[in-house]
Amino acid sequence: MVKKVLFVSAEVYPFAKVGGLADVAGALPKALHNLGVDVRIIMPYYGDIQRKSGEFNIKPTDVKNIPVVVGDIVERFSLYQAYLPGTDIPVYFVRSQRYFDRMGIYFDPETKKDFPDQDERLVFFAKAVLDAAPALGFPPQIIHTNDHHTSILPAYLKLTHSRHPIWRPVASVLTIHNLAYQGIFEKDVLYKMGLGEELFYPTGPFEFFGKVNFLKIGILFADVVNTVSPTYAKEIQTPEYGHKLDGLLRSVSHKLFGILNGVDTTVWNPATDQHIEYHYSAEDLSGKRKMKVVVLRQFNLPEDIDTPLIGMIGRMADQKGYDLVAQILPDLMKENLKMVVLGSGDPKYEKLFTDLAKKFPGKLGVYTGFNGPLAHKIEAGADMFVMPSRFEPCGLNQMYSLLYGTVPIVRKTGGLADTVIDADQFPEKGNGFVFEEYKPEALFGAIQRALNAFADKERWRSIMLRGMKEDFSWERSARKYLELYDKAIQFKYGTSAV
Ligand code: ADP
Repeated sequence: MVKKVLFVSAEVYPFAKVGGLADVAGALPKALHNLGVDVRIIMPYYGDIQRKSGEFNIKPTDVKNIPVVVGDIVERFSLYQAYLPGTDIPVYFVRSQRYFDRMGIYFDPETKKDFPDQDERLVFFAKAVLDAAPALGFPPQIIHTNDHHTSILPAYLKLTHSRHPIWRPVASVLTIHNLAYQGIFEKDVLYKMGLGEELFYPTGPFEFFGKVNFLKIGILFADVVNTVSPTYAKEIQTPEYGHKLDGLLRSVSHKLFGILNGVDTTVWNPATDQHIEYHYSAEDLSGKRKMKVVVLRQFNLPEDIDTPLIGMIGRMADQKGYDLVAQILPDLMKENLKMVVLGSGDPKYEKLFTDLAKKFPGKLGVYTGFNGPLAHKIEAGADMFVMPSRFEPCGLNQMYSLLYGTVPIVRKTGGLADTVIDADQFPEKGNGFVFEEYKPEALFGAIQRALNAFADKERWRSIMLRGMKEDFSWERSARKYLELYDKAIQFKYGTSAV
């Protein structure tokens, strides 16, 4: 079994979070650790984290002032260290004055635009990781990279570090949390990476429609690649979901796998959740009703406790189906229900939903912004949860909803298809409501079916309870990752680590 893993991520909960990647990076290492793996995490030391260094007890290490070359720039990094809260898993932070001593993870919080030097930041981080592990005296067996932010590392392992004493034996894993974000940069990024222009030729690993695509590089060079649900692993090999990489993904299907994410139940459990005022469980649901009142109050909605309350939480991006919800809202608001929406992101949707809330006072509550505690309260207080995603690699909110007895209404795609079972189609095992076509009427139909079920209190309760009893433990997923690590070693060497 693999014993030493370096986990590399641009986001790790609770230090820095934009979306589901952070949740996975904060939880999977814990589960691996519980299975006996010496896993260590490395991430950038963003200004946002530096501000909270006291809270997380982040300390400098002896690794200081190591130079890294990015094109014509020489920038030095120092390593800081803390532990993943509640564990003894080391988390290393790469500090760079030039690249990370600023607020924002991927984009400038003031302009809301991507950092113009984002390519350099990613190249710098990857190169710093290559120097950090030897400097720390931590030779991993596996380097586990995540998304395009860190996906050039497998290429370095094969091209520039294939004879390096520490890196030579290391097998690489790339987890794709979302294929839509690929890290596409101008050709000059090759120079910044320290690689020759001769690598840039049509259809080669370093060329993508005249540009350089970091995720493509990772897919080609990693020993194994996985996505975060079995269905998404299949979908991305089709033109509809492949974001122009479906052909490439089909060509590497022998090393492409799907492993469903788990839920960190130390953070997401209605019986112990630190962000909710009233706790509850499948045995005693009374706290859930009280949380409904908390949420209605927070959104200034009348406290009609028996009217169904629909929640929606998520990044406001085209992916998440906000356009479908906006289209059905005028009709939906004629029904006897209330709805609360929490999201941030694309200003187009932020404005659309802020305007809609003004149109439907007393029925629709909208909060635009990132608010972790409020997300927990909505999961606890709502009766239903809509997630009509256009595509969904895994999706965490529908799993949180199931565990919180908040019946999910989802589109049948990616991880949503792998976790939610339609209660009309499968009365014995249904835990939610599912629709197939990405059309407003399909979403509306599914919500109406959920409202009908809600009216039958006993049936509704049994649907809720089925969800609350699901096992989304990270332990199950972590065991699959251990098998994946073993495959990575097999693919690299043709033999197993066992
Ligand atoms: P994605 O990774 O595509 O953003 P997921 O459903 O996998 O979607 O994970 C989203 C995570 O981010 C969940 O933990 C969700 O609660 C959280 N989240 C998204 N938007 C917000 C927001 N505006 N405020 C608080 N939490 C949010």
